[in-house]
Amino acid sequence: MIKVHHLSKQFGEQEVLKDINLTVEEGEVVCIIGPSGSGKSTFLRCINQLETPSGGTVRYNGENLVNNSYDIRKFREEVGMVFQKFNLFPLKTVLENVTLAPVLTKKGSKAEARITGMELLDRVGLAEKADEYPCTLSGGQQQRVAIARALAMHPKALLFDEPTSALDPELVGDVLEVMKSLAKDGMTMIVVTHEMGFARDVADRIIFMADGYIVEEGRPEEIFMAPREDRTRTFLSRVL
Ligand code: ATP
Ligand code: MG
Repeated sequence: MIKVHHLSKQFGEQEVLKDINLTVEEGEVVCIIGPSGSGKSTFLRCINQLETPSGGTVRYNGENLVNNSYDIRKFREEVGMVFQKFNLFPLKTVLENVTLAPVLTKKGSKAEARITGMELLDRVGLAEKADEYPCTLSGGQQQRVAIARALAMHPKALLFDEPTSALDPELVGDVLEVMKSLAKDGMTMIVVTHEMGFARDVADRIIFMADGYIVEEGRPEEIFMAPREDRTRTFLSRVL
């Protein structure tokens, strides 16, 4: 579904991504772990072209996104992204936050968007907050609204960049539960995370990145129980 081939990214002199190759199949959950500054966010941002890669290709169902003739809006409508900072629209209600994009992109009528929006808020456990404003919600609740907002576009896949790392510890669990349920329902997901428990339980595959490289990848039990590379072992011994 998403195929990254020889991807590289430089900021000035600094090579932040070096020959990254990754294929994500439909229904797969891939977790990306690695130290701060290793290029995880840049990698996600190169996938949806929030950053322009310096080299290589990113293919989505065969089409190369790193190509001026590709209309990236199409990809972004089909593959949502959830950020560390949820960036809800502060002057819109929770429900309006969820319905705005589908209405603007004419995915259906306003009435339909509201019905779907309420279903999605219910799914993330926040139906009763529909008419509140984001500032009255906790960080974890806001992040769940952000996930509902991404789901409102009926995405084929979702990219998550450390969705829980800005949250107080007691709020992390509810967000992870929502993500787990998405995974269980077969959503294709690429998740940059520091939550090793989540990665171990939910991922089909773990990617360990360091210094702009994919150092190692494998099934969770391989990476967590029997890492092949010293760098992976060192990293895990610090975070586990
Ligand atoms: P963290 O775990 O802290 O989020 P990360 O693995 O997501 O780290 P990135 O944010 O991708 O790392 O950053 C990788 C490197 O690229 C860092 O050295 C960072 O300073 C640099 N970098 C990222 N964005 C830019 C930018 N827009 N301009 C210049 N350098 C950048
Ligand atoms: Mg990051």
